Amino acid sequence: MVTYPVADFIASSAALCDAVLRLRGPVLNEELGRIARWLLACPHGVYEPAGAPMPGVAGGLRQDVVADEHYFGTYRVFGRADFDATDRYHLASLARLTASLLHVHSLAQRSAHAYVQVEAQLAHQLQILDQIQESVLTLDMAGYITSWNRGAERLFGYSAMEAIGNHVLFLYVDEDPNFRDGFAEHGGRMMEVRRRKKSGEVFWASMTLMPLRDVADRPIGLIAYLNDITERKQAEERLHHLAYYDALTSLPNRTLLTKLLDQALMGAQRNEATGCVLFINLNRFKWINDTLGRRVGDELLRRVSLRFRGALREEDIVARLSGDEFVVGLFDIRQHFEATTVAQKLQGSLLEPFVIEGHDLRVGASIGISVYPQDGGDAETLLRLADIAMARAKQGHESLDESVAFYSLDMNQGMHERMRIESGLRHALDHGELLLHYQPKFAIAGGRMVGAEALVRWLHPQRGLVPPADFIPLAETTGLIVQVGEWVLEAACAQAAIWQRAGVPPLRIAINVSAREFTATLPGRLAATLARHGLAPCWLELEITESALMHDIERVIEIMGQINALGVTLSLDDFGTGYSSLSYLKRFPIHTLKIDRSFTMGLPDDASDCAIATTIISIGQKLRHRVIAEGVETAEQLEFLRASGCDEVQGYLFSRPLPADAFETALRANWLLPG
Ligand code: C2E
Ligand code: MG
Ligand code: MG
Repeated sequence: MVTYPVADFIASSAALCDAVLRLRGPVLNEELGRIARWLLACPHGVYEPAGAPMPGVAGGLRQDVVADEHYFGTYRVFGRADFDATDRYHLASLARLTASLLHVHSLAQRSAHAYVQVEAQLAHQLQILDQIQESVLTLDMAGYITSWNRGAERLFGYSAMEAIGNHVLFLYVDEDPNFRDGFAEHGGRMMEVRRRKKSGEVFWASMTLMPLRDVADRPIGLIAYLNDITERKQAEERLHHLAYYDALTSLPNRTLLTKLLDQALMGAQRNEATGCVLFINLNRFKWINDTLGRRVGDELLRRVSLRFRGALREEDIVARLSGDEFVVGLFDIRQHFEATTVAQKLQGSLLEPFVIEGHDLRVGASIGISVYPQDGGDAETLLRLADIAMARAKQGHESLDESVAFYSLDMNQGMHERMRIESGLRHALDHGELLLHYQPKFAIAGGRMVGAEALVRWLHPQRGLVPPADFIPLAETTGLIVQVGEWVLEAACAQAAIWQRAGVPPLRIAINVSAREFTATLPGRLAATLARHGLAPCWLELEITESALMHDIERVIEIMGQINALGVTLSLDDFGTGYSSLSYLKRFPIHTLKIDRSFTMGLPDDASDCAIATTIISIGQKLRHRVIAEGVETAEQLEFLRASGCDEVQGYLFSRPLPADAFETALRANWLLPG
């Protein structure tokens, strides 16, 4: 029997480990055989791997090498006669150890192999990603960039190092609401977006967003594929421009005009608003084009289009139809006659000559106007009728007034009437045809005269005395009211100063101020005029209508405060006819509420007029304002007002508005409320 020192067994185990780790194939088999021979001190011994032919040797010991039901091979030793249990035990131990080592080694090799394969696949995919032209980036759920291919580097100019870890918003031109949508979505979708390059350049890209998922199919972010489509976009824009804009002036052409008009008409229909189409034809253009040539003609058209655009508001439509024909669409107007103001503005913009290639060129414009909804409801009809009106205007184009015509004959007549009034009023302002009449106001208690309202009149050379109702509303739409108002302020202050110097007992004069005069410059103008006439501010009062105050209330309150601070009092005219909200009424720094004549008229018989009058009086009392009733014509009205607690009255019962001298005479006679 052979004994085996422990050291030998350890040495053989070490040799076995070394062999399994380092050797392969027949060399390994040979070494395993050698270890078996050495361990069992046997002249012959082999290791036969699975599948190898077994030499047919009889006798000796044999032991299969098996792990986890996997058969690796068999040890066989022979050439000794005295094999016993210990030898068998040792050969079995050797076989177990060999089996374990081969098993672990094969597992390790398999996973190492798989790892190498994954690595190779990843490198492969990265290479594909980098080869494709598209830029591909991935984002996590919060929008931070997690990968960035070469295409993205090329497109944006940022390297992967610079881009990864940034929030994707750093590529956006402006915060894009689609961004959030992208996250909300699970399916792919394509959109056209604008992005910014590292250089700052903005470009168009088509972008597809797809959800990015983990192995358990949970969404973990997004993949974005982007392509630069700037060139295509520009081409599209060029095509769009060619299709919809006039190449010479860059104004919309007929196609776009029709679309824009139809759109605007839909809006007007919804808002029950008025709209006007102005058809414009240039006068003398053909002559200039024929004699000076096309180049000059083209330049002239370009310049005309710029002046037209400059004369209009942003929201007005201007188009060039052909040759010297332009069209303007107005849909932000209240009354059709406001279109004549715009037509005059357009004509006014052409007054200054055009200097082109050394020529001093003058053109005029004949303008025809059609009105929605009276004349028609669609773009085609309105254009056609405005064209017909233009032809009519052209016949009278030598006179500026006649070179504008409405399609509807009634409107045309109305327009000429208004134009006559307007130019007449300008003339009146310059030639002293305006004058003031004064109507006294009385305190009911005590009956003393407390002031007078100055009311403007126009002494027309042919028509005689024109009442303000015939020209103030028109002056308001044309803006002439500002000059009229300046004149009234000046004349009223001058008259008050004259009366004071003449020793008439001082009285407060009220003037009417329209909404258009109620601007930030008004307080300064008041102060300057009062100072110029040496008049104390307490002798001036402003009557403002409620409707004047209802736009931009905060600004109005500020201006009112400034006027109040000067010492000029404010009164709310025609009270009850507007829509003053009581909460604002409380904040207006006013002195007096004036009950409108329409309510005074029904006193004391009309129950609702009585209710309105008494309500206004009690509102006035609560807010500590004085209350005056205008248009008092009968003693019964006066009595009702007295009984209701009204403070002051004004009306034909006491006096009509009087010219200054008649008013002065009555003043000197120490005017008192009758009765
Ligand atoms: P208003 O400010 O409400 O003026 C009162 C109007 O009622 C005046 O008409 C006056 O003559 C008239 N009136 C007064 N008492 C009676 C009466 O007992 N019976 C009748 N039937 N009428 C009476 P007027 O002068 O024709 O002025 C009309 C409106 O024109 C004024 O209404 C005011 O809104 C405006 N207005 C007058 N002068 C000016 C002015 O200088 N500037 C501005 N912006 N508007 C003015
Ligand atoms: Mg008034
Ligand atoms: Mg009034």
